[in-house]
Amino acid sequence: MKKPTVDLSKCKLCMACVAVAPEVFKEVDESYIDVIERSEYPAEKVEEAINCCPSGCISWEDY
Ligand code: SF4
Repeated sequence: MKKPTVDLSKCKLCMACVAVAPEVFKEVDESYIDVIERSEYPAEKVEEAINCCPSGCISWEDY
């Protein structure tokens, strides 16, 4: 299974990923982006978020 992950050291909190895929990414305490726990992740939405992220900090990880 694949799960998206965010490199928080590169994240600019631009909120693009939350706008594109609110079922996957959420902002916590206006300070960082968290990946919502799901049994499956919508690949197209995650790919769109990866393409929208200005910092290139979203990627897939295997788990
Ligand atoms: S799109 Fe990228 S830089 Fe913007 S909030 Fe999401 S992870 Fe951070």
